[in-house]
Amino acid sequence: MVTRYKLRLTAAYALAAVLLAAPLASVVAQTRVSMPKNKYKVQDDVRIGRDAARKVEQQFPILNDTQVQNYVEQVGERLVAAIPQEFRQPGFDYRFQVVNASDINAFALPGGPMFVNRGMIEAARNEGEMAGVMAHEISHVALRHATAQQTKVNNPLNQILGIGAILGGAILAGEAGAQAGQVAAAGYFLRYSRDYETQADTLGSQIMAEAGYDPRDLANMFQTIANQGGGRGPEWLSSHPDPGNRFQKINREAQLLNVSSNPFKITPEFERAQARLRRMSPARSWAQIQQGIRNGDVSGNSPTAGGRYSRSVELPSQRTRAYRQNSISLNYPDNWREFSTQGGLIFAPEGAYGDQGITHGAMMGVFRSAGADTLYATQSYLSSMLQNNQYLSQRGSLSRATVAGRQGYATALSGRSPVTGRAEVVSIFTAPLRNGDLLYIAAVAPEAEVHQYTGAFRDMVASIRLND
Ligand SMILES: [Zn+2]
Repeated sequence: MVTRYKLRLTAAYALAAVLLAAPLASVVAQTRVSMPKNKYKVQDDVRIGRDAARKVEQQFPILNDTQVQNYVEQVGERLVAAIPQEFRQPGFDYRFQVVNASDINAFALPGGPMFVNRGMIEAARNEGEMAGVMAHEISHVALRHATAQQTKVNNPLNQILGIGAILGGAILAGEAGAQAGQVAAAGYFLRYSRDYETQADTLGSQIMAEAGYDPRDLANMFQTIANQGGGRGPEWLSSHPDPGNRFQKINREAQLLNVSSNPFKITPEFERAQARLRRMSPARSWAQIQQGIRNGDVSGNSPTAGGRYSRSVELPSQRTRAYRQNSISLNYPDNWREFSTQGGLIFAPEGAYGDQGITHGAMMGVFRSAGADTLYATQSYLSSMLQNNQYLSQRGSLSRATVAGRQGYATALSGRSPVTGRAEVVSIFTAPLRNGDLLYIAAVAPEAEVHQYTGAFRDMVASIRLND
């Protein structure tokens, strides 16, 4: 009897201990996220996202690399599996694609399609940081923030035209002022409210911890992105504005969560994917891609693909050939080929071009600098150039140069070319355009041969005439 009583007491005590311990370990812990009010059907999210995704796939170069694609999918699926039960939608289709664009950006469309820029993967310092951006985006989708945000807007037009027309328009037509039918990259990104940003940070942290990541890497990624912004600041931060003390809040949430003692950080898969991307020819920026779309070119391929690199490239001919267009004319060596690219021109001899760009020759194009002064625009162009070609570094400072009768700048970059494995010099020239943008010329040659190219590059730059 006594023994039995004692046993019961022990059992009751043990049960109480379990009941007490459970809330301490999990329920008290994480911040509660609740689904915002939404007057749209789940099916609306799915439809809008699917239509928008189709347009994105048509207009933007999707990276054609199975290895990187599989890797990003694997990380994405791991995160999706960690979405809390209450925020799962059976109709949602989370899909992950890599866009071959250099900007540090990513976006998710309602219902699940996500696009991660190659620039974002290259900028991340470890897999946790990349997964952080993805977990944050997944959270916006799971919480249906796009349609919830539209629910808050009391716009009678919504009832007449339907949510798809309004939201699809907001996502696809671009910022106000964009012409119909033209896709402004910035328009793909909804600018979320601060409340929704806090929710996506919180749920994103919870998903990360559940999936085996350290949520602090989400906080770190915001800093990584801010540090690599360059001139105009990365788009991603402007569509995901800081709700205030974001870094501290995410770190505080992380303390409440059950974070693995050995979270995914620098994984071999991550390192392999980054190394693979860095070996590829540089990605274009959104702005360059858009420019290409405007010029009617929707292919995402390198314009010089199809060429073969050769160790012996013929020296530049003394004789020149003229390139004439309405807005620009110039002369180039007549043994060089001309390629029109999205937003620019490339001139290169046989054996010096291929799917990874050029090893000898010149590239020119327009860098969108929105009326910034020429020095600032040149610096912004250089930082994007260095970001897209991580093997290069600047050699010396900027010096003034006259290009097409205008006051511009010149400098040189150098580094070991990933194509030839040899030292390479890239001479840069810039000049202001009338519309506030910047004309750039990047002339490339192996260091050992650069003296044989200096004359050709100089004559080419001196022959440029602008009619803009
Ligand atoms: Zn966000």
